Amino acid sequence: MNNNLELVCTFVAKNKLDYKNLINFFSKVQNTTDYKILSNRALDLYCEDISKKNQSRLRKFCFKNKIDVCIQRKKWRKKKIFLADMDATMIKDETLDNLVKVAGIKVDIDKLSKLAMDGKISLRDTLKFRVSYLKDKSTDLIKKVIKKIRFNEGSKILVKTLNKNGYHTSLVTGGFQPISTYVGKVLGFKKVISNRFVIKNNKFTGEYIPITGKQNSKLVYLNEICKKKKLDKFKYAICVGDGANDLGMLQNSSLGIGYKPHQIVKKAVDNHIHFTDLKTILFYLGFTEKEFAK
Ligand SMILES: [Mg+2]
Repeated sequence: MNNNLELVCTFVAKNKLDYKNLINFFSKVQNTTDYKILSNRALDLYCEDISKKNQSRLRKFCFKNKIDVCIQRKKWRKKKIFLADMDATMIKDETLDNLVKVAGIKVDIDKLSKLAMDGKISLRDTLKFRVSYLKDKSTDLIKKVIKKIRFNEGSKILVKTLNKNGYHTSLVTGGFQPISTYVGKVLGFKKVISNRFVIKNNKFTGEYIPITGKQNSKLVYLNEICKKKKLDKFKYAICVGDGANDLGMLQNSSLGIGYKPHQIVKKAVDNHIHFTDLKTILFYLGFTEKEFAK
């Protein structure tokens, strides 16, 4: 086998994986006898390169059967840097929107947020808008939002397993401190990169300090951390996110995963998680279920 062309296709189901049906279909797109069982719901199949057309057939089959699939080069499968988005990725919530809601401000915040995540309006503009609504409101509202945070399934085991295996884990979010630092601490991220509110006398001023002060902040941070660790991002970095502001990091890493992605991410990035939880990322990285941290 030509090592550079060798692929690994990972299949993950919510409950039990129907191996027979899957292998039967797989034999129509590529020959392989090489596999590894990662769990009773996850399987690796190794093979030579698959044409774009057949990859697309395979992805459609998986989607129809509610199986998450990741197709990647085998060579750089093990990574060292992990970057994760927070809102609607590690947690279920859009925390800035929730802040505006608990403040009792009447505005269609969900719509604004969705338009930004779909890439239809600039995130920076909507962020500015959304933060400005908070002007003169008490920062006690932050506690209310933190109390209501719902973590996505698998998030804790994911970060714990990666940390245990020497990954550098960062939570990179367009959300705000101290909500982001709380989420980062609960999940065990080694680093949290986020925006900051400008606060005076325990009140929001309606202004904020952006993550890196530059466009495409998440990609800027990815570049910084990889430079610092002297690691090639196209070999050693894995990123996960759901929205338009994640695209920079998702498309400029060795493996970019769309987690229940908005349409713009779904189209731009090949590998997603639609049907299963965040532990699927561990399968994509080649961990068996027995290797997951407890
Ligand atoms: Mg998000």
